[in-house]
Formats: sequence, structure tokens, C-alpha cells
Amino acid sequence: MRKINRIYINGEFVQPSGTDEQVLINPSNKEVIGSVILGNEEDAKKAIAAAKEAFKTFKQTSVQERLEMLQRLHDAILDKMDPMVEANINEYGAPRRMAVGRVKLAANNFLDTKQALEKFEFTRYIATAKIVSEPIGVIGIITPWNASYSQITAKLSAAIAAGCTVVIKPSELSAIQTDEIVEAFHQAGLPKGVINILNGYGNTVGAEMTRNPDIAMINFTGSTRVGKEIRRGAVDTMKRITLELGGKSPIVVLDDADFVKAIPIAVNQALTNNGQACIAGSRLLVPEHRLEEVKKLAKAAIEAVSVGMPTEETTTLGPIITDKQYQNVQRYIQIGIDEGAELVSGGLGQPEGLESGYFVKPTLFANVTEDMTIAKEEIFGPVQAILTYKTEEEAIEMANNTSYGLAAYIHSGSIEKANELASKLEAGTILINGAVHEMKAPFGGFKQSGIGREYGEYGIEECLETKTITGHGQN
Ligand code: NAD
Repeated sequence: MRKINRIYINGEFVQPSGTDEQVLINPSNKEVIGSVILGNEEDAKKAIAAAKEAFKTFKQTSVQERLEMLQRLHDAILDKMDPMVEANINEYGAPRRMAVGRVKLAANNFLDTKQALEKFEFTRYIATAKIVSEPIGVIGIITPWNASYSQITAKLSAAIAAGCTVVIKPSELSAIQTDEIVEAFHQAGLPKGVINILNGYGNTVGAEMTRNPDIAMINFTGSTRVGKEIRRGAVDTMKRITLELGGKSPIVVLDDADFVKAIPIAVNQALTNNGQACIAGSRLLVPEHRLEEVKKLAKAAIEAVSVGMPTEETTTLGPIITDKQYQNVQRYIQIGIDEGAELVSGGLGQPEGLESGYFVKPTLFANVTEDMTIAKEEIFGPVQAILTYKTEEEAIEMANNTSYGLAAYIHSGSIEKANELASKLEAGTILINGAVHEMKAPFGGFKQSGIGREYGEYGIEECLETKTITGHGQN
């Protein structure tokens, strides 16, 4: 049992003023594994004050000093590899191999940002003007539960590279993981007050950060619903916001693709992180005349996936995070059935032998039409909908017929054709033939999938203000 009753403010672990307690449950077996006392508005204000004070000197640190800090943060995360992996398995239900990958990814964000910082030009010239990029100020970082470590480090690394101080509010559902990562941050030994981190609910700590005038920017990842609340809450202070939100990403399989290779990859593109991924390829668009072949290949691929205990070496999909999310995914599967989609594989209930936790059957629907709920709404579970198109023009229209625009996937036998299609899709990230996102490159959404971009130089740029200086030595 882990009892967490501390937050990290001004370089010290302190007890929160808040008294709300949240119980933490292992999603694989529903056992209580701990509890966390959550911070409140007062705690958020203290953290913001510490970050504001620290910013006065931190904004003047040299690039060289910040490069060293990014390196130290990277090393500190790797030093904490084992407890961070265990926390990801027990609190989130990540299969071990995936948990190891996630900690490495979280550490690597610091190195990628470091590389970008080495080349970053903080001073540029346009005609007679000198253009200077300066750190924007205190950044409020708010993150979701589905990829806690890497979301935090992506945002933190950009802030540090830019010379900004931060207040971080991770999801209250990842409190043990937060408690581990904060130890790594402490070990990295940055100046006091540069990193402040606290657990708390969105409508208390998160809302305070959003409206507080001493926060210059909110860098948020989470649902589109909360993203809209943050945008509204930030209006009065005019603070900058970057929002990484939800998705309903299409996978377009062109007729010239090698279906035997492409369809299993496409199925797995929906199952990334058990479908609890903003970039999950939840809509599979295939040529109408190939539907039967696709159904056969997709069914075989989804049934080959091994759902099981995260601690087992062979497991590729663990449980869903909470009972609430489990019920939500079940509800969408029921809606799919009720609205007349054809259930090809999976369905309601839990896989046999896995009734102990929030395990979901990877589920495949065919004969899905664009008006169906499962073709429109983000499910955030291992559920894929197969839709058919007659022409490539229709495929493009269908792919873009969504309020989201985060990722889009293409499978084709021709890179020229794939690139041409890429130019017509409304999404921030396009992945061709099983490629994965290049983590040094910008990531973010079109339409209601977000505002702004993260990672590498684009991520640093978001954390800067631009100052134009024009003048002469003498009048
Ligand atoms: P969520 O929007 O419910 O919560 C995200 C964070 O916002 C949490 O820390 C929460 O406490 C906080 N929050 C809630 N209400 C708030 C408020 N009123 N003011 C300020 N903060 C508030 O999201 P979730 O359920 O934790 O995560 C799943 C969602 O995140 C999905 O929609 C997914 O697509 C999205 N996501 C997007 C990306 C991306 O990069 N685009 C990556 C991962 C997850």
C-alpha cells in the first residue's frame, strides 16, 4: 500500500493543504494499491508563486546550463527505471515491455529537446530589426493518465529548454507514477522552484492554474471537452494555450497496398496502448470490393493479439485503466451492435479467464457507416470500425469527415500515391505503411484535435515570446 501525502514545491516535498483522498486501484485485479491526498487551489497558488519567483533568475540561465540540466533530467529518469516501470505496470496496467519502452521514451524526450536546443536560434535579424526570443514565463502543464511519463517530459523539456519554470498537474489517476517521476526531477537538482508538481483534480488545481494571472501559458494534453474548458478559462488572462486533444484517426488502405501485410498493421494501429491513445487508428477505410478479404485478414490479426496480465512476458494488451473507462468502452460496443454494425470479432464482456480486472475484448466492427456513433466518437478502447469506400475521392472525404485531425494512416504500394494522399488529409501527423511518429518532429492536431505543436524546436518555440528591437546607436 502506497500512501502519498506530499507535493513538490520550491525544491521540497511538502504536505498538501488539500484533504481530498483518492484511492488508487490496480486495473489488472481491482486491488487497492494505495491512496493519494490531493492538492487544492491553495497548493496550486503556492506552487505558482514558487515558479514565479524562480523564473526571475531562471530566465537568465545560459543555453549551456540548460543543456546540462536536460542531460541531468534524462539521466535521473533512467536511474529510476525500475520503480517507474513497476508503477506503470501496477497503476496503469501496461505490459512490462511497453512500460520499459515508455520510461525510455520519457527520458529520451530530454535528449531530443537537448539536440533541438543546441541548434536553436534565440536571436534572428529581419532587415533592420533584431528579433529576440525570450521565455514566456511560468508554464502550467496539465497531463492525462494514458501516457503520463512521456507527456510530462515532453512538455517539461520544452519549458526548460526555453528558460521557463513550471507547475505540473498530472492526472490524479497516475499519482504513484507522479510520485516516482518527481523523485527523478528532485535528483536532477535543478534550481529550487523551477519544477513544481502536485496531484489534484482538474476542477480545483487545474482550474486554478488555468485562470491564475501568474501563469503565462497552459500546455495541456487531454480530452477535447476539457481542452475547450481550458480555452474558456484562459480567456480573461489572455494566456497562451497549447492543446493536444482527442482523435478519431482514419487509416486509408489503398487498393494497390499489399493487404496481407497492411491489414494486420492497420489493426494494430487501432490497438496502440489498448486503444487508449489519442492517435489510435479507430476508423479503417478500405475499398468496397475488397471487404471480405479485409474482414478475414483483420479478424485473424485481432484474434492473434494476446490480452493478459501485464506481468506476463507474452501479453501485448493489458487492462483498461478504470472501471469508468471499462464501462464506457462496453457502452460503445453496445451502441455499435444496436446501430446495426456487424460484429466481426470481440464484443461485450471480458476475455475468458480475465474477469479479475478491467480487461476488454479487442473488438472489430464491419459494415460501419459514417453516421454511426462508433465512426464518429473517440472510444478510447481497443475497438476498430471498418468502413468501405468506392473511389479514392470518397476515401479522402470520409477520412476528413470528422471534427478531429490528429493523425491519419495510409497504406499503399506506391510512395508517390501515398504522399499525394497525405497532402489531402486534414491531420497533423501522417504515417505511411506502418511508420511511427518521428519524436523529434512536430506533433499536434488540426481542427478540434488541438492548438500548437510539441517536440523538438517546435515545442521550444511554443514556450517563447518574440521581441522585435529596432534602433540606432545615436539619434
Ligand atoms: P481529461 O481531459 O479528462 O483530463 C486531462 C487532464 O486535465 C487531467 O489531469 C485532468 O485532471 C485535467 N482536467 C480535468 N478537468 C479540468 C479542468 N476543468 N481544468 C483544468 N484541468 C482539468 O483526459 P484523460 O481522460 O485524462 O485522457 C484521455 C484524453 O486525452 C483523450 O481524449 C485523449 O485523446 C487525450 N490525449 C491526447 C493526446 C495528444 O497528444 N493529442 C495524448 C494523450 C491523450
